[in-house]
Amino acid sequence: MERSFLLLKPDCLRTGRTVAVEAAVAEAGLRIVCRHPVSLTPSEVRFLWSEYTDGAHVLMLAFLERYLGDGPSEVLLLAGPDAFEAARRVKRAIRSRYANGPFANLIHTAERRGELARQANHLFGRCAACADPFVSDEPLVNAPRPAGRDFRREVDVPGLVESLWPALQSADPPAPAPHRLGGRAPESALYLGADPAHSLDSTVTAVWSALPGIALAHAVTLMLYAGRVGGYPIAVGGQRAVSRGHRTLIAHGITACGIGPAPVRHGA
Ligand SMILES: [Zn+2]
Repeated sequence: MERSFLLLKPDCLRTGRTVAVEAAVAEAGLRIVCRHPVSLTPSEVRFLWSEYTDGAHVLMLAFLERYLGDGPSEVLLLAGPDAFEAARRVKRAIRSRYANGPFANLIHTAERRGELARQANHLFGRCAACADPFVSDEPLVNAPRPAGRDFRREVDVPGLVESLWPALQSADPPAPAPHRLGGRAPESALYLGADPAHSLDSTVTAVWSALPGIALAHAVTLMLYAGRVGGYPIAVGGQRAVSRGHRTLIAHGITACGIGPAPVRHGA
């Protein structure tokens, strides 16, 4: 009998989705062995999400701290056939039904067995039922995600997170206005898509570098919205300015981007 776990994040508990998670766990053939309330501190967030580091991922860590420090969480230790894969299926099912983006996605489980062992050994060992340590042959620490700029030099990062927070919890956030490059009538647009090979920090750094004059909060909003809808005009302007922005994105290693016609603005 294999073991795995789920972390029910503060929004899962607050919105009463625990019942839906328990149903999905049972449907996946898993049994809840024990469960414990946890309140994750900033240092625990860094230990659990070891792919993000201070300095290289200041935005992601600030968002994760805001998200996971928002109230109590709960951990469920699960057992059953093929529990590692089954718990991942539960995560995907719950997120596809109820999640509103990366900072409103309700539950977590590990994507690798080494990660599972590291995280479970931190989160459990709280009672006799969960005292057995997890072991894995895989590296316990996740590979670092692509780094971004240390924006603490430019902005108050926690203040930025706070200002964006309500929109990031929304099931239907408003479409952000593309950044205007230059004063001319927009001839073309720079499109950005979802790029799983990049991190939030590396993508925002690329967007912020590619679009002169853009506010960091606007760059974050555009990047998250583009990731959500899978392709979105993040900037409009003259062809030369748009081409310059496109070249900068490419130079930052962004591949999910391109140039297209400027979208028609109704009523403009
Ligand atoms: Zn326990």
